[in-house]
Amino acid sequence: MNHSAIDLTTAYELIDRLAEVHALPPADYAALIRAFCGGDTLRPPKEGEIGAEASAALAAYARAKADPLRRQYYGNQIFIRGLIEYSSWCKNDCLYCGLRKSNHTAERYRLDTEEILACCEEGYRIGFRTFVLQGGEDPYFTDPVLCGIVSAIRSRYPDCAITLSAGERSRESYQSLKAAGADRYLLRHETADPAHYALLHPPVQTLETRMRCLADLRDAGFQVGCGFMVGSPGQSADTLAQDLAFIQNFRPEMCGIGPFIPHHATPFAKERAGSMELTLFLLSLLRLLQPTLLLPATTALGTIHPQGRELGIQAGANVIMPNLSPAIRRGQYLLYDNKLTSGEESAQNLALLKKQMDGIGFSVVTDRGDPAGADIDASQSKDV
Ligand code: SAM
Repeated sequence: MNHSAIDLTTAYELIDRLAEVHALPPADYAALIRAFCGGDTLRPPKEGEIGAEASAALAAYARAKADPLRRQYYGNQIFIRGLIEYSSWCKNDCLYCGLRKSNHTAERYRLDTEEILACCEEGYRIGFRTFVLQGGEDPYFTDPVLCGIVSAIRSRYPDCAITLSAGERSRESYQSLKAAGADRYLLRHETADPAHYALLHPPVQTLETRMRCLADLRDAGFQVGCGFMVGSPGQSADTLAQDLAFIQNFRPEMCGIGPFIPHHATPFAKERAGSMELTLFLLSLLRLLQPTLLLPATTALGTIHPQGRELGIQAGANVIMPNLSPAIRRGQYLLYDNKLTSGEESAQNLALLKKQMDGIGFSVVTDRGDPAGADIDASQSKDV
């Protein structure tokens, strides 16, 4: 069945509606995605193929609607986060990820507190006011260890935001990390469909636990980020519609999406990478769905296309997370093949990133980059 002929007529109306009321029923999200892709494949037609022009026009329409909404809250500002990949050890076995424990060829390292603080020092000097500590689920980082690192950063950099991306932990753990001075936590939900979640993870990892963690993070007082890969094996217009419906309901402060990219030493080695065009379209839809969302143009987007990050910003993203990890470690934190580790990806190359953003009419700012409208208690940072 060719959905595009039927659905394109209403797709524009659905985008108008989303821009106006910032919500749609799941079936409408699915229809919109099918209209864009010209069917169920999640592979929008490429230039020269049937339907390519209609698909590109729909993306341009969503982008044009998303842009003023983003500007209403954030102007032309792009927030930057310094990403510190503190451990490549992981006890989990996510089928898509190069850090999975069954990948015995992965190079493993962990940074100690001094190394992490050295990254922050350099980042602060360059102009970063948010540090993102991301790692595999490494049992070495118990609550006392991770809380110690967070409080050390907090006391040295009271004017900076601390974001953690340390996976699933207990409710008490999240509360301790918040009390130690962390502000934000990124934990992608990966997919809001339980059957799809089970395809991407071993049975011990469940969507139920992931959702429990997201709720606990919110209760602990974090600004919370969820998100998903675009084009992960088993994904469909319907599972993506569930992702958008979940975000509409959960209202995260942040949402990370990027194309799935295969890693050669995982069970998904032979799967195809997700579509950049669909990722960009979804970025626009997310901006329409929740105009204040902090939405990164991710490394994965920059990896599948040389202009991926700029295109992501133009589609509606407003955050970039350059890499602040020690240079010798960057090639060892490999979630997927060919991960970008140099050029504008490098935090040290901020001048290049600024130039690129200037070139498309955006401005990289030195700022914590909190969500618009968030009630930030500045004293909270100072008195720890
Ligand atoms: N362990 C933490 C967690 O699971 O949230 C943080 C690190 S984890 C590697 C960060 C994110 O990388 C995951 O949420 C996943 O969406 C993304 N990722 C992993 N493998 C990927 C792949 N092959 N392609 C694209 N993104 C991938």
